[in-house]
Amino acid sequence: MEVPTLKLTDNILSQRVSTFLSDFILDDQRSDRVLEVFETELETGMKNGLEGSSLQMENTYVPDLINGTEEGQFLALDLGGTNFRVILLEMKAGKIVREEVQYYQVPEEKRLGPGEDLFDFLAVCIYDFTDKLALGDSCQSLPLGFTFSFPMTQTALNQGVLVSWTKSFNCPGVVGKDVVGLLNHSLAKVKPDNQKNLTIEVVAILNDTTGTLVKGAYDRPNTCIGLILGTGCNGAYFERSENVLRWHGGKYDCKNVIIDPEFGAFGDNGCLDFIKTQFDKAIDVSSLLPQSFTYEKYFAGKYIGELARIVMVGMNKERLLFPCQDVEGLLIKDAFPSTMLTEVVEDNLNQSTERTINVLKKFSANCSPDDALIVQHICVVISERAALLVGIPMAVFLRRMRTQEGHIAVTGSLYKCHPTLKARMEYFIRKYYPEWKGESFLSDDGSGKGAGLIAAIARRLGI
Ligand code: BGC
Ligand code: MG
Repeated sequence: MEVPTLKLTDNILSQRVSTFLSDFILDDQRSDRVLEVFETELETGMKNGLEGSSLQMENTYVPDLINGTEEGQFLALDLGGTNFRVILLEMKAGKIVREEVQYYQVPEEKRLGPGEDLFDFLAVCIYDFTDKLALGDSCQSLPLGFTFSFPMTQTALNQGVLVSWTKSFNCPGVVGKDVVGLLNHSLAKVKPDNQKNLTIEVVAILNDTTGTLVKGAYDRPNTCIGLILGTGCNGAYFERSENVLRWHGGKYDCKNVIIDPEFGAFGDNGCLDFIKTQFDKAIDVSSLLPQSFTYEKYFAGKYIGELARIVMVGMNKERLLFPCQDVEGLLIKDAFPSTMLTEVVEDNLNQSTERTINVLKKFSANCSPDDALIVQHICVVISERAALLVGIPMAVFLRRMRTQEGHIAVTGSLYKCHPTLKARMEYFIRKYYPEWKGESFLSDDGSGKGAGLIAAIARRLGI
């Protein structure tokens, strides 16, 4: 990992700041080891799932991409963050010819309250959408693809049992249940009279990474990975089906199938403890779901700003940062969100401290030029580690698929807004796979539209 040296007017201070951050710096030896452990965990996960591995390597039952013959109207749902989206896609000859989207806020009480309330709420939103578009007027049956961006165990394309909640969801009564069944139940329960004639059929449940892969391949040929780098992090890729030993076979033959590794949980069994810093431990302890999703907490959007904040608090205590005061504003959880971190890194890239000082005004009225440089350094170090840790699984998947040309479709605000993450991630991918000639690219709304596309594929294949 390469980190520029911090140059402050006070050499000793520079030295002390660097020492404070040294656990974040992964030298070649430790980063090589992360990659080796990832490969071992992947192999074990492929055979046994979560028994013996922190990588679930879940079969998504999606065997194919859009082939240019898909026709009709498809509904798509996208649930995973604080927004919930309902989408209508109309397809002709495999192309999206019409799309309608409606966003709904998922209030905190639905994200943390009983599961049944959450699914009733989703169903109400769906009927609100179909009502607004008058989709029920002509007595239709609409296939629906449901992006549910949490770890699931699938036994079919339209069956997914929740393994655990992540990010900002924790509704009792859902873990261990088939989410499609819960949605179907709510769709029947809250169906309004004016939509009696409308039948909504959930034909596919998927992870946002799977949706992003399929949508990415629709945007750009040779796309073989769907990566989410937003609130959470995970990436899906194509695996040869003969390697999916837990695969029971379907009504169709396929050579390859999309795998959802759930690599946000990488390290949950302790296999990565050799890179865990005291700051990572602090993030985990104060998170909604402690002792889970270790890897994601090292860098995903929900945590990366918080990580910087925790470091700043530590440095303030040691009088390395804002030395003349206790900065109380910094003590508030999530007071330094990822958007602030990206702004600071951008300022650093422009060799300026203006925006950094502006951001830090929120916390302290007297921010010296050195304070600004130190905060920039913290954000750069944490971002560099993030790029390395995302790059490693990408390199492993690309090597596994033996593709030198394969592209990576990415959805997520962290990737979209961070000024250096894309380039640094690609740098680290090439470090571990020098032959790679592909690129990563932003595939906006892969998790939403991908669900509609997969519903269309499911219809075409009759699965
Ligand atoms: C979830 C994954 C998801 C990722 C990105 C993680 O917390 O477990 O299923 O793909 O976030 O949204
Ligand atoms: Mg999403």
